[in-house]
Amino acid sequence: MSISRRNFLGRGLAATAAVGAMAAPAYASQAGTLQGKKVPVEKYDVVVLGAGCAGMSCALEAALKGGKVVILDKMSRPAGNTIFAGGHFNATDTFVQKRDGLTDTKEEFFKDMMAVSQGRGDPELTQLYVDKSGEAIQWLTDKVGIMWRKMVKEVWPATTRGHVVDGKLKPGGAQLSKQLVDACKKAGVKFVFNCKVVELLSTPELACIGARTISEDDGVVDYLGKGGVLLATGGFHANKEMICKYMGGTAAWMPIRGSSVNTGENITLVKPFFAQLVNMDQFHAGPIHGPTRANPSTMVNYGVLVRNDGKRFIDEVSTYVRVAQQMPKLIPQNWANIIIDSQVVDIDTVATRIARYKKAKAPIYQADKLEDAIRLAGLPVDVTMKTIEEYNKAVKAGKAAELTPPNTLEKPRLIEKGPFMIFPFQGGMTATFGGPRITRRAEVLNTENKPIDGLYAAGNAIGGIFYDDYIVGSQLTAAVIFGRIAADEMMARCKKA
Ligand SMILES: Cc1cc2nc3c(=O)[nH]c(=O)nc-3n(C[C@H](O)[C@H](O)[C@H](O)COP(=O)(O)OP(=O)(O)OC[C@H]3O[C@@H](n4cnc5c(N)ncnc54)[C@H](O)[C@@H]3O)c2cc1C
Repeated sequence: MSISRRNFLGRGLAATAAVGAMAAPAYASQAGTLQGKKVPVEKYDVVVLGAGCAGMSCALEAALKGGKVVILDKMSRPAGNTIFAGGHFNATDTFVQKRDGLTDTKEEFFKDMMAVSQGRGDPELTQLYVDKSGEAIQWLTDKVGIMWRKMVKEVWPATTRGHVVDGKLKPGGAQLSKQLVDACKKAGVKFVFNCKVVELLSTPELACIGARTISEDDGVVDYLGKGGVLLATGGFHANKEMICKYMGGTAAWMPIRGSSVNTGENITLVKPFFAQLVNMDQFHAGPIHGPTRANPSTMVNYGVLVRNDGKRFIDEVSTYVRVAQQMPKLIPQNWANIIIDSQVVDIDTVATRIARYKKAKAPIYQADKLEDAIRLAGLPVDVTMKTIEEYNKAVKAGKAAELTPPNTLEKPRLIEKGPFMIFPFQGGMTATFGGPRITRRAEVLNTENKPIDGLYAAGNAIGGIFYDDYIVGSQLTAAVIFGRIAADEMMARCKKA
């Protein structure tokens, strides 16, 4: 008799671990049986966990190589960070760069990647990423049909490498996701949605051979992968308990900028295999108006940043990532304000962000007189006016770097010509950078530094490449690269089996 969802859930997941402990080694469950009863088993060449950019890139590549592939996702459609992404791909040596007359070298790219990770990104994986980034853009173009916007030179460290997905859907990540789903379906990949992976299945020797799932329709089903299993369930930014545990309590107060379904199965699923977890305290952050999800992004560099008590708290040269990471540490209530004047509103970056605030119906406090805008924003008028007066005076005297805190922008903006605008925002959590460490073959390493047989990982699920910050567009490119590498490895393993 197979096990239905109702009687499985009735006994609870704790029972799984307890029975596993009796029937087999305690560390992971074996396929096809649970509580002494049979579980339906489905067999594939490649089993992919998570329908994000990493999972679908792996699935597509494996299917194009002739594999029988299934993608399991706990939600009713792709619902991870991919659909929230801007759609930037950082890559070098591409036909798009050539098309748009931009030049770059792999050496420069590697240097920038390592600089952004403070030298703590895994150099071997980073080099592989850099070397394969151009190929990833070509693959997305040829196999997924992605079209690219005209490239422009961006500020360091993105410089001349920002490839942005073009298309009707916004943001670019949603367009990418749709095209990946379509390409996977065309190539014969089977999607099983509403199907939560609750455990990885193993041999007694701890090789990973599949995944145990629970779904509304089918109850408990075991999916076996002859070539292996790809962990591509994203990170753990939406799991407050894990955020507290690995990053400390202040970070848990940050609103989420991306998906609310990345709840840390990249950690819980691999623990029974003694996976090596790295960079667990690291995360990407960005400014956000939490209640409406309006994202001011780099607008933080075009005005003055003040707390709700009207005082400045950070150097406005700080990247939006640094501003957001610091906010919950510096400001307990995690709210601050960007004050700009009319001289910057036509700059592309600023204009786009104002439009986003308006579209999201996020508050913008605007008035011809600065005093009135401050009053509308609910900030203390006297203190805030004094802050701006001192700031303007220092900027005019060329002494902004002597303020406390300093403003070391090359071109600090004066706040003097109305109308003035004030945008409230918080530091938000984008994604975690920690997870199982992988080899250059995308194999998950255990604590003895040995690859876990049959277990691969890619995308936001892994740890190792990113530390502290990333060059915008690096995560999607890495997801494609290591997803495809995992596909190659699993298909090769499949042929040998
Ligand atoms: C606002 C925002 C903008 C961004 N912009 C960019 C950008 O422009 N460029 C860039 O490079 N990066 C960007 N990123 C980061 C990028 O989106 C992610 O790194 C990338 O999309 C991660 O893809 P993934 O495939 O690893 O995971 P995800 O896209 O998060 O997919 C994970 C999937 O796994 C599923 N899942 C989770 N647990 C289970 C389980 N137990 N069982 C079954 N399924 C499960 C989820 O439902 C989900 O569908 C951005 C992120 C955010 C939040």
